[in-house]
Amino acid sequence: EMTETTPATPNLPNISFEFFPPKTEEMDRTLWDTIERLAPLSPSFVSVTYGAGGSTRERTHATIVRLLKETNLTPAAHLTCVGAPKSEIDDVVSRYHEAGVRHIVALRGDPTTGIGTPYVAHEDGYQTCADLVASIRKRYSDIDVTVSAYPEKHPESADFSADIDTLKAKVDAGATRAITQVFFDNDLYFRYLDKVRARGIDIPVLPGIMPMHNFKQARNFVTRAGTTVPDWLAEKFDGLDDDAETRKLVAATVAAGQVQKLAKAGVNDFHFYTMNRADLVFAISHLLGFRPNGARKAA
Ligand code: FAD
Repeated sequence: EMTETTPATPNLPNISFEFFPPKTEEMDRTLWDTIERLAPLSPSFVSVTYGAGGSTRERTHATIVRLLKETNLTPAAHLTCVGAPKSEIDDVVSRYHEAGVRHIVALRGDPTTGIGTPYVAHEDGYQTCADLVASIRKRYSDIDVTVSAYPEKHPESADFSADIDTLKAKVDAGATRAITQVFFDNDLYFRYLDKVRARGIDIPVLPGIMPMHNFKQARNFVTRAGTTVPDWLAEKFDGLDDDAETRKLVAATVAAGQVQKLAKAGVNDFHFYTMNRADLVFAISHLLGFRPNGARKAA
């Protein structure tokens, strides 16, 4: 039942990549150039996010189906409970299953009224993420369901215990893997993992790694999601606002250092938030030992 793959080459960890669905033709070209560059690294899966409030439902679907048709990659479709009745969400899942998609990243989602405002479930919708997970698994036992996890706890969780209760409910409902919110301090991840294991949760908890192409932008974005950006990290980008080239080298060094320390401590799975860009993720994967192997289907 667990589908965590053993790495193709011994000693290589599992890597996975996250993309967002493109909005314009230019973004579409960027994404597919990125996929073309990263696909030969043979990631375990690649996931495509679902815009806030379901705003990218069709674009997420189109990207996932194209991945299925044009590459050898295993696509994982993100899906949230926000703003839709169960019937509509079930329909999205059915369409994915029909198309051959066998991996869904199930989320509650953020309130359409903005992060930080109270979350109110749709009256005919899934009330919790665990309900969505249970429904997917009940209707399609061959769909693999991944969920989220929060090393710094979710901003809405009263405490770690409440936060891990939610993760436990999602696992009990059938989730087989979790991906963490981005974090920059590895100790936070290890302490969280200890708490998770102590609750008897034994699914893989993939660290979510975000190489920061644009530090200032990324800092604002992740801070809103509850991730701490340590002072030592901010200092590394100090004075580089007008020096994109050096920022890129620094970002690669920082993320590579984080990943290599995790790997040294025995972590065997890495999920990269690519921001639809290949260069940093390709370099970091290279440092982990990955080499292109022509996994992309011949045209
Ligand atoms: P849950 O797992 O249901 O809850 C997370 C935590 O919040 C729980 O631990 C729980 O204790 C607490 N909590 C939840 N509900 C309540 C409540 N009502 N009262 C008090 N505490 C509560 N968002 C998107 O819109 N699209 C995406 O594609 C997407 N992908 C993501 C991928 C990953 C790996 C992660 C980590 C996040 C992603 N998000 C995405 C963001 C996510 O939707 C938000 O973080 C959202 O606020 C929580 O959704 P969840 O599924 O993590 O929530």
